[in-house]
Parts: sequence; C-alpha cells; structure tokens
Amino acid sequence: MTSFDVVILGAGYGGLTCAVRLAGRTKKLRLRIALVGKSASFQERLRLHEGLADPGFGLPVRLPALAEFLAGSGCTFIQGEVREIDRAERCVRLHAPDGEHVLSYGQLVIALGSRTVPEPPGADQHAYVLDAEGPRAQPELKRRLASLDVSAPRIVVVGGSATGIEVAAELVRLRGAGVTILERGTFAGFATPAVKRRLVEAVNRAGIVVREHVRVEAVEPDRVVTSAGDMPCDVCVWCAGFSGQPVAPAAGFETDAAGRIRVDPWLRALGDPFVFAAGDASIPIERCGAPPRMSAFFALATGAHVADTIARMHAGKRPRPFGFWTWGQAIGVGEEAVGFATMPHDRQIGPIYGGRMAFLLRAFFIRLLVRLIGLHRRFPALPFWLGRGAYRDEAIGRYAPPVLTPLHRRDEARS
Ligand SMILES: Cc1cc2nc3c(=O)[nH]c(=O)nc-3n(C[C@H](O)[C@H](O)[C@H](O)COP(=O)(O)OP(=O)(O)OC[C@H]3O[C@@H](n4cnc5c(N)ncnc54)[C@H](O)[C@@H]3O)c2cc1C
Repeated sequence: MTSFDVVILGAGYGGLTCAVRLAGRTKKLRLRIALVGKSASFQERLRLHEGLADPGFGLPVRLPALAEFLAGSGCTFIQGEVREIDRAERCVRLHAPDGEHVLSYGQLVIALGSRTVPEPPGADQHAYVLDAEGPRAQPELKRRLASLDVSAPRIVVVGGSATGIEVAAELVRLRGAGVTILERGTFAGFATPAVKRRLVEAVNRAGIVVREHVRVEAVEPDRVVTSAGDMPCDVCVWCAGFSGQPVAPAAGFETDAAGRIRVDPWLRALGDPFVFAAGDASIPIERCGAPPRMSAFFALATGAHVADTIARMHAGKRPRPFGFWTWGQAIGVGEEAVGFATMPHDRQIGPIYGGRMAFLLRAFFIRLLVRLIGLHRRFPALPFWLGRGAYRDEAIGRYAPPVLTPLHRRDEARS
C-alpha cells in the first residue's frame, strides 16, 4: 500500500486541472499528491466525434504524456484503472499495467467523468458509443465506418441533443451516408426556440433527417426497433445522455439518477468528509450560480475549486463554497457551428452566431480549455472563473464547512 495526502481519480478536464492546481498551490507544504488515470495521455473527450468519417484523421496531441506533463509538478501520475474505492479503509484499489496497486488517501477527489449507457435490449451489443474506451467505443466505431462495404450506409444516431447533433454532422460526411437522428423528446431540447431554429436549419443544410418523439425500443444488427416502427440501419450510434462511472455508487456514495455523486456547497461527497467530487462525476445539491450540467467548463471550474478548497484546508484557511457562471455554448454542425452567449445562468442571451465564423470560435474555445490546464500547471493561482460568489448564501448555513483534522494528513493516513 502506498500512502498519499491527496489521491485524485480521473485524469480528464476536472481531475487534471485539480492535480496541477493543487500541486502548484501547495508546493511549500510538500503534500504527497497522486493523479490516477486509465490512459497514459490526456484525452480531449469532447473532440471524440471529430474525423469519424475520415479513417486517416487522428486528433492532434496538445499535451505531452501525463507522466511527462506532471514531472516536477509535485504530483505523481499513476496509470491504472480504479476498480474499487474502500471508504472504510480510506484506500483505492487499482488495476495497473504492472499489476494491482492499493493507494491509501488522506483526501480523495473523484473526477472519473461519465460514460454512455444505452438501455434498450441489444443496444449494448449493436450500438456504438462515443466513449474513449470500451468494446463499442469510438475506436471501434471508426473501424466499423472504415470497413462499411455498402455504397449508401444508413446511420441512426440516437439522441437529438448537442452530442447527437455533433456526431450526426460528422457521420453525414461519410460518402453516400444517410443519417437520421432519433429523439424521444424534442430535438435540441436544451435550446431556446431561436437556437433550435438555427440548429434545425444547420442540420437540414447538412442533409440530416431528424425524427422527434420516437423512442428506440431495441437495437438489432441491421435495424433499430422504435415506437414508430422498424428502421433498417447499418450503424447505430448512441448519444442519448451520459451516466457516472459505476465505482462511485458501488462505494456507497449518494448519487442522482445519472450516477453523479451528490456534493455539498464545498463539493464534498455527502456524508464523507474525506471525499470531494468534480466534473461529470459530481452534482451540487445547492444552487451554485449556473445550473450544473455535464460539460468541460463545469469540469474545469469544479476541479480548480476542489484544488483551492484542499489547499486552503492545509494552509489553515477557511474554504469558500463553490459558485460559477457559464460564458457561452457552441454546437458544431460539420464545418459550421451555432454559438451564443449564456452568461450567467446557462441560457442563451444576445445574438446567435452561425456559419464558419462560429465554427472557428468554437475551435478556439476548445483549444483554450486545454491551454487553461497548461496555465494551471505554470501559474496555479492565475486562472479564474466567473461567478465564484454565486452560491446561495442561506443554503450554506445548513452544512459544516470543511476543516482539516489529523486524519486528513499524510502521517496519520500512513499508519
Ligand atoms: C462527442 C462528445 C462531444 C462533447 N462536446 C462537448 C462540448 O462541445 N462542450 C462541452 O463542454 N462538453 C462536451 N462534451 C462533454 C465533455 O467531454 C465532458 O463533460 C467532460 O469531458 C467532463 O470532464 P471530466 O473531467 O469530468 O471527465 P472526462 O473528461 O471524461 O475524464 C474522466 C477521466 O477519467 C478516466 N477514468 C474513467 N474511469 C476510470 C477508472 N475506473 N479508472 C481510471 N480512470 C478512469 C477516463 O479515462 C478519463 O480520462 C462532449 C462529450 C462527448 C463524448
């Protein structure tokens, strides 16, 4: 068993931000910090749909390998898959390339992100998902698309929200492809009527068919069975919602219907003073400004906030509750995008931008997200986010603020 003051699980947007910011902010305290990730490199998950239709396309690498990126930062990278969180023993069990490992922690940060879990019968065998890993994940989908031997492949994308739209717009570039989005509710249900109109125009221009109020009941090798009848299909891609990783509910954390860990105003897991959660893995139960939604920006802000909270606890300072506002949103539709400001409460305000300009702006912000992680690494106190005081004051009084106890420290954690 190896002991650490802080163990951070998941090296995505939230976990990596937390790791570099915390290491940078606590350098003088010489905390032992470990970041655990399944993959040796950072995966830009929100770009997984890019180049799906182009077998020669590979995502450009924007960060060095994680061990290299973290070298000298004060945080150790451990590659491995988290198999179990043992809250009674305060340790985590990993399956690593060189065998099984047990890490004991003083404080734990869970930033394991989310995954796609298709529910209907047959979907787990015949539908692909836009996860980075797994038997029917993005690499398998790319292989399947590259090996299609029909001249006009019929592709069904399940889910008419932002991810489904972006995925469908990539797939329709496949030569001769006919792409249909099936949505059990209304298409672009997250959008204001004006945004929805622009998205409908963009998908129409791309030649994508949208069918609303159609529920997929089963997925078979060559068709999907829906509430509106059977639809023949060569490839089915499931983009209808994300769920938290299974290790959190298995460890007995209180989760919502999507499997996200319910957290208090300091982003602590309810009922466990040693555990924080960030990013897609977390759901604040009190109002904290903008409504929390699984997104890269929310992951960065919560990851950074958890780092600040732990750093303040170790420095003997009072941590602050979490608050945030969003800036904007842009949905890519092939080589164009629909973008708009959402400040402060994640609802569209002001003009809606479309076309190539919006696409380039979206690409700029996606790049900025990775740049921000690099900035946290170099100047940990510098990157900030808006809406830090946006939590609801009266709700905070119901919770005891986090305080450092001897159990949160490394020496005691080792014993
Ligand atoms: C196709 C697609 C398009 C998207 N587009 C957008 C967009 O335009 N804008 C936006 O804001 N969001 C978008 N998202 C959502 C966004 O990618 C997520 O909200 C964001 O990645 C969440 O960050 P995170 O750090 O919480 O989790 P992740 O980025 O998922 O990182 C979690 C990390 O934990 C690792 N992990 C998981 N389980 C284990 C385990 N058991 N052991 C060890 N490591 C583990 C994973 O490998 C991963 O590296 C998109 C998502 C997809 C799939």
